[in-house]
Amino acid sequence: MPELPEVETLRQDLGREVVGRKIKSVSVTNGRSVRRHANPRQFRSLLEGRTIRSVNRLGKYLLIGLDSGNTLVVHLGMSGQLLRVRNIREPKPKHTHVAVVFSQGGGLYYVDPRTFGELFVSVPPEDGPGPATRSSATVGTGDGAALRRAVPELSHLGFDPVEDVMSWDRFGALLRSRKVGLKPLLMDQEFVAGIGNLYSDEILFSAGLRYDRLSNSLSSTEIRRLYRAMVETLGDAIKHRGSTLADEQYRDLFGEVGEYQGQHQVYDRERQPCPRCRNPVVRVKWGGRSTFFCEHCQI
Ligand SMILES: [Zn+2]
Repeated sequence: MPELPEVETLRQDLGREVVGRKIKSVSVTNGRSVRRHANPRQFRSLLEGRTIRSVNRLGKYLLIGLDSGNTLVVHLGMSGQLLRVRNIREPKPKHTHVAVVFSQGGGLYYVDPRTFGELFVSVPPEDGPGPATRSSATVGTGDGAALRRAVPELSHLGFDPVEDVMSWDRFGALLRSRKVGLKPLLMDQEFVAGIGNLYSDEILFSAGLRYDRLSNSLSSTEIRRLYRAMVETLGDAIKHRGSTLADEQYRDLFGEVGEYQGQHQVYDRERQPCPRCRNPVVRVKWGGRSTFFCEHCQI
């Protein structure tokens, strides 16, 4: 499942590829991908004729700003892919559910074998920010609060560890206000947005903390270590264009695989030596998901 680094890689490439393009036509061949709308025609009518002004990201969501003041929101779910295509006359990949064609040529395909992902057009509330404040052609404004106001459907999301600045004190207070295991807390999108099964394991290894350590039991040194591990691990993964695993389907905008899987310290490395102490990495089934960690380096 794509997490923050994979979605951020897409955002960066989309910013270069689609900002300024006008949407000529949209076709929907699987209504489940646009299920928040009454019907595919309503979804299409909010997009056709509009020009793309910005591409932002919040957690695992892509936010494509339109000149109407509305936002096309894309969530890849388990297996979604966004692909930039140059020649729309070539046969579409299998499981292409939505195809966007640009007036300037080429298009953007949404492909999703398992159909857990979705696209929807968010219309800002009447008293919210209108087109005047949202039409600037910026990419990655770093203002998560403004994005949440513009897209009320995403107001439930917690802070974005790349877009939102947070002090260690504040992060520590948030950790202490809960009493849950660190892994489920990092994966709770209402606490922090964008982290899933893979990066939570990598972050906790980097921080030297166990998946089941209670969030209110951390010393201030451990809080700082966790915060730093979170920001640095995600930043590294973005630099390496995200992770593509053998059994999963992440592809970037051009259909290429990521490069970060070669850098994983513990994830999917059961019985291989821990990079720090050489003891074998352990896998446990926890809450229905596999968790990878080192019994010696993580306390
Ligand atoms: Zn170790």
